Amino acid sequence: MTGSGRGGVLVVVATPIGNLEDISPRALRSLAEADLVVCEDTRRTRKLLSAGGVATPPLLSANDHTEAGRVGAVLARLRRGETVAVVSDAGLPGISDPGERLVRAAADAGFEVTVVPGPSAALSALVVSGLPTGRFLFEGFLPRRGAGREERLATLATVEHTIVCYEAPHRLARTLGDLAAALGPDRRVALCRELTKLHEETWRGTLTEAVARVAEVAPRGEYVVVLAGAPEAPVVDDDRLVAAVARLVADGSTTRDAVAEVASAYDVSKRRVYDLATGPEIRLQP
Ligand code: SAM
Repeated sequence: MTGSGRGGVLVVVATPIGNLEDISPRALRSLAEADLVVCEDTRRTRKLLSAGGVATPPLLSANDHTEAGRVGAVLARLRRGETVAVVSDAGLPGISDPGERLVRAAADAGFEVTVVPGPSAALSALVVSGLPTGRFLFEGFLPRRGAGREERLATLATVEHTIVCYEAPHRLARTLGDLAAALGPDRRVALCRELTKLHEETWRGTLTEAVARVAEVAPRGEYVVVLAGAPEAPVVDDDRLVAAVARLVADGSTTRDAVAEVASAYDVSKRRVYDLATGPEIRLQP
């Protein structure tokens, strides 16, 4: 299909994460009609298209290393008014996969970018995890080593949303061990394996149990790790803080010392305790 005359269009197309039946009729039509399909692995995309009964359009490979170098060629096609589709090996392009750079370049150059939505391992795992789905953080793959990994783990420990991570099977044991150390042994976790495939399985438990489980049964296949968020810090009400300061002052503390002690005991700011204890309606002498 040549362009509409309004300029080219970049179409981001989702493909199955394991089960070929999950390709949508619109995805197949979009790929068949594209002037060019940018894909990670041309053999894999060819197989997908032939399974869907679609003649293979011209393909251009782009992986993590080569995507930036393909931007010029893709923009040139879009300038000619052509339709360029982007797929990755599985799921949604741009989600821990190539695609993001092409989308940004096309959008920055003023071309229309549109999506044919479909499977993604992250959302599929989230919805079967049994963990809260209302707010979540997609973490993708953790940095493999070094300070970057340490820092990311420390940050994740405080996140109150459900957390979704990708991990390779041979790194799963180490990652679960690191997560248990950083997030605490009792944090709930779901290990979602081989979603949509023959050996699909979702295991749920604590991080300690997960570490034991992968030590017992060697991980095989593709995994998404879904973690419960950090428990919310309990809300301490104002009256309680004022009463605690008053007690300490009655026992002989200065207001200043009492404020510091209460702030630290309840893990709230000194400013808040001080303002409550000495504020206009209140209560104690500064
Ligand atoms: N773009 C893809 C998407 O939207 O899901 C993700 C690509 S990323 C390179 C591959 C990772 O996704 C795997 O290492 C695994 O963590 C996860 N994954 C992909 N397919 C999966 C499946 N069927 N079951 C479980 N995890 C899967």
